[in-house]
Amino acid sequence: MTIEKRICPACGKNTPGEYCDRCQKKFNEGFIALVSVDPEKSTVKENGTMTNENAYRTGELLFIKKESFFKLFDISEQDVKENYVFVHDEIVNVLKKSCL
Ligand SMILES: [Zn+2]
Repeated sequence: MTIEKRICPACGKNTPGEYCDRCQKKFNEGFIALVSVDPEKSTVKENGTMTNENAYRTGELLFIKKESFFKLFDISEQDVKENYVFVHDEIVNVLKKSCL
């Protein structure tokens, strides 16, 4: 299984398998990317997250500080192996409203 690193349209464009500068900068600053997916076309776990292979991306992306992320979601740090997670698009929309 290959790891999908194209979390935003720019990722992987110049160097396949690498994050773009914008995303990498955010990760360096301690952010995690919430990749919005359509739950109707994906398999969603009970905590609202899903895995790479069954996530249907809507194209929305939200960066959130890691410490806030682990407070908001019922996920332990060991469970997040990448710099991003897939979440229900409704959750992304709610977070976007409350973050702005
Ligand atoms: Zn990117």
